[in-house]
Amino acid sequence: MEFEIKRKRLIEGLREHNIDERVLAAMERVPRHLFVPENEQTNAYADYPLPIGSGQTISAPHMVAIMCDLLDIKDGMKVLEIGTGFGYHAAVMAELAGSGHVYTVERIEGLALSARDNLEKAGITNVTVIVEDGSLGLVRFSPYDRISVAAASPEILDTLTDQLKTGGKLVIPVGRLYQELYLVTKTDGIKKEAKGGVVFVPLIGKKGFS
Ligand code: SAH
Repeated sequence: MEFEIKRKRLIEGLREHNIDERVLAAMERVPRHLFVPENEQTNAYADYPLPIGSGQTISAPHMVAIMCDLLDIKDGMKVLEIGTGFGYHAAVMAELAGSGHVYTVERIEGLALSARDNLEKAGITNVTVIVEDGSLGLVRFSPYDRISVAAASPEILDTLTDQLKTGGKLVIPVGRLYQELYLVTKTDGIKKEAKGGVVFVPLIGKKGFS
């Protein structure tokens, strides 16, 4: 009950970012306290990043909201996420995709295992967590309607735009210490729009940082 009240308050606060109502409704349905480490439960509905071990952090709720808002995920879509962490962002996207599916790739096995556990506890069944180097995308389920990258990339990766459907969208933070968040739309060509400064942990892998 206490969690529910905190969650409602968090969602109300997110309105100042002009987030789409569908995204806010999806975030209201996902019990975020199931997607943070036990010792961080009291902070589950605070709007800042949280440590999840292995030197990684999960995004602040407003960052998840902004990225979901930019991606405009619709019912039935096939979505790829790079950087699962504890699975919260994937859970919100899964709610938005409805009858669709989310494939999420994490390079650290322990985090992937936690994410699978958390998703199961939350009763979310349309997410597949895969342990791999997501800087290469995930060719075997491509092409995707949407791709969301939750780690800082050296550039807008061709490997990912190649795995998008025509009309598809990608959000990706680009830069080393500080990043610019890009919304990339694939039509006849590739349209890139800068959407503001962000801070993410690095994408580590073949096409990422070493
Ligand atoms: N999406 C999460 C945030 C995850 S933090 C959320 O719900 O807030 C970023 C994650 O990206 C970390 O867990 C990190 O281990 C992972 N990561 C970094 N490089 C990666 C790569 N090449 N492939 C897959 N995951 C990667």
